Amino acid sequence: MDVFSNLRVVEHPLIWHYLSLLRHRDTPADLFAKSVEQVATLLVPEVTRDLETREELVPTPLEECPARRLAHPVVLVPILRAGLGMVPGFKHLIPEAMVAHLGLYRDELSLEPVVYYKKLPPDLRGRDLIVLDPMLATGGTACAAIQYLKERHPRSIRLAGLLAAPEGIALLGQTHPDVPVIVAALDRTLNGRGYILPGLGDAGDRMFGTLF
Ligand code: URA
Repeated sequence: MDVFSNLRVVEHPLIWHYLSLLRHRDTPADLFAKSVEQVATLLVPEVTRDLETREELVPTPLEECPARRLAHPVVLVPILRAGLGMVPGFKHLIPEAMVAHLGLYRDELSLEPVVYYKKLPPDLRGRDLIVLDPMLATGGTACAAIQYLKERHPRSIRLAGLLAAPEGIALLGQTHPDVPVIVAALDRTLNGRGYILPGLGDAGDRMFGTLF
């Protein structure tokens, strides 16, 4: 199976413009955070393209008109901490979406991802989930987060990110081939410390200004 078949890279001049700001090492934290929000907003139409809708009759001031609405509640799941930066962009276009936070760290001994923070509805049945994870590096955290969410039986899961490395996409494609991954760019590779190359550095530190 093609492990990249679940990947969509959204191509748009505005995305390229904001990505260039995100990648530039001299971009200050406030502009960086705003650019994350802008790219996130621009990803929303593609991320939500195949959400199910239901038809209903809407009374306009003049007559009844067939219309379509989202059929199921949408839940945004930002992966702490950098995923928080994508929330405003998604809420801008889906204001009614619930935001369910999920935090994971890698245990130093077992190297397994451990959930350290969760604030989710106990049952995700019937809900369409959008996981927000800006930097898909090794893909380990994203895979573990998706596994954790799948055990709560949502209707569907999609993953939205800013940058991905081929290594992370391959792992996601092998582990969760049913989860579409939508990103703004596919970068070249990872360095020895797990950073995406050419990348943009540490997304969390850059958006929250905690670099120094
Ligand atoms: N997380 C980041 O913030 N940046 C990377 O390059 C990889 C993971």
